[in-house]
Amino acid sequence: MAFPCPLCGAVSRVRTSRMLSAATKEIYYNCSNDDCCHQYKTLEGEPLTLAQPIKGGAQIPPERLRTLPSLAKPTPPPPLTVQPGRVQHRVLK
Ligand SMILES: [Zn+2]
Repeated sequence: MAFPCPLCGAVSRVRTSRMLSAATKEIYYNCSNDDCCHQYKTLEGEPLTLAQPIKGGAQIPPERLRTLPSLAKPTPPPPLTVQPGRVQHRVLK
């Protein structure tokens, strides 16, 4: 998946992502422009139904339903990559 860097417009690549809730996903990106190297994250959520599931989804066997791992102990995101460059980065907390 590619996303334009909000600073320079170059293609960014997904570094990792994680589910924050059943309908919210946090996605971490690295800008591919060597003069920028922006690292940022986005939130994806609020899914909107475009077409109803066949028979309302009621016919899906329980063993074929996917469940999210417990959100009680969220895993921290992986450490940011450190690469030498001309741009100084500040890690958001
Ligand atoms: Zn960039």
